[in-house]
Amino acid sequence: MSFGAALRGRFGDRVLEHAPLAPLTTFRVGGPADCLVETRGAAEVLDALRLARAHGVPVTLLGGGSNVLISDLGVRGLVVRPRGGVIEAAGDAAVRADAAVTINGLVRWLIGHGRSGLEAWAGTPGTIGGAIVGNAHFGGALIGEHVVEVRLATPDGSAADVAAAEMGFGYDRSRLQTSGEIVLSVLLRTGRGEPAALRAAARTSLAYRKRTQPLDAPSAGCIFQNPDPARDRLPDGVPWSAGALVERAGLKGAAIGGARVSPAHGNFIVNDGGATAAEIRALIDRCRETVARRFGVALRDEIVYLGSFQ
Ligand SMILES: Cc1cc2nc3c(=O)[nH]c(=O)nc-3n(C[C@H](O)[C@H](O)[C@H](O)COP(=O)(O)OP(=O)(O)OC[C@H]3O[C@@H](n4cnc5c(N)ncnc54)[C@H](O)[C@@H]3O)c2cc1C
Repeated sequence: MSFGAALRGRFGDRVLEHAPLAPLTTFRVGGPADCLVETRGAAEVLDALRLARAHGVPVTLLGGGSNVLISDLGVRGLVVRPRGGVIEAAGDAAVRADAAVTINGLVRWLIGHGRSGLEAWAGTPGTIGGAIVGNAHFGGALIGEHVVEVRLATPDGSAADVAAAEMGFGYDRSRLQTSGEIVLSVLLRTGRGEPAALRAAARTSLAYRKRTQPLDAPSAGCIFQNPDPARDRLPDGVPWSAGALVERAGLKGAAIGGARVSPAHGNFIVNDGGATAAEIRALIDRCRETVARRFGVALRDEIVYLGSFQ
C-alpha cells in the first residue's frame, strides 16, 4: 500500500496532498507540503510518525508557524500539524498542556483558573510545543524555566516523559533542535494568583508588544538570537541586542523585493505583501553579512528554515 493510501486509511479526508503551507505561517510565505495531516491528540501524532517511519517518509512538525521560514519549494514528505489540544490541572502546582495548545490559550486558561507563572507571555504567537523546541523567551525569562517535564515522541513513534533538566534548555535552545524528537505534551509548574492581577500583568505585556513590535504586518518575530556574552565580542557601547546591531548597521527599512527590515524593530523582517521566502532569506543574509563586517559579530538564527534553500 502506498504511503498516501495508508495515511488516508488512518486519517481519511484530513490528509491533504500538495497542501499550501503559507497560510499556516505568520510570514505568509512558502510552498506546499507533499502531504499534510492535522492531528488531534498524542495518539494521532504517534500513528502518523509510525506510518511515515514504515514508509521511509520524512516528517516535519508545524505548530503555529510563527517561528519558521518555509522554502518557496515547500516541504518534502509529511507535515504533521497538531491541532486543538487539552489543558488539565495536575494537582495544585502544575498543569499539563498538549503540544498543540496555543500559548495565548494557555495563558487565558491559567488566568481564568487563578494560576500564575505565564501571564507575561500573553501575546506570544504559536503553540506550547513550538515554544518548547526553541525555548521561547520573553522579558529575560525562558519558557523552559516553567517546565517540570516534557512528553516526547521519538521519530519511530514511542513516547517517554523527560525531566526539564534533561531537555538541554538554554537561550533559544533545547535538545529537540538536534534530536528529531517531537513534543506531545508539557507539564508546567504554576503558582497561585488573583485573576484580576494576572490579567493586569498580561495586559501590560500586550501593551509592551504593541508599542515595540510591528504587529500590523506578517513576520516571524525576531530573526536573530541576541549576541551571547560567553561567545561574542562587541565593540564598546554597542548593546547586546541583535535588533540594535541591525539598526546601527543602517539596515532598518532595508528591503529586497517584498521583504523589509521593520522600521519599528531591527530584528523583525516583515512581508510587505508578495514577499518570497528567497527574498526574506536574502535580506537575512544581507543583515548578517553587514553586521559581521561592521561589528565583527556573527548573528545566529532564531528563526527555523523548513524545506530547502539554495
Ligand atoms: C509577532 C511575533 C512575536 C513573537 N514574540 C516572541 C517572543 O516574545 N519570544 C519568543 O521566544 N518568540 C517569539 N516569537 C516567535 C514564536 O512565537 C515562538 O518561537 C513560538 O514559540 C513558536 O511556536 P510555533 O508553534 O509557532 O512553532 P513553529 O513556528 O510552528 O515551529 C518552530 C519549530 O518547532 C518545530 N515544532 C513545532 N511544533 C513541534 C512539536 N510539537 N514537536 C517538535 N517540534 C515542533 C517546528 O518543526 C520548527 O522547527 C514571536 C513571533 C511573532 C510572529
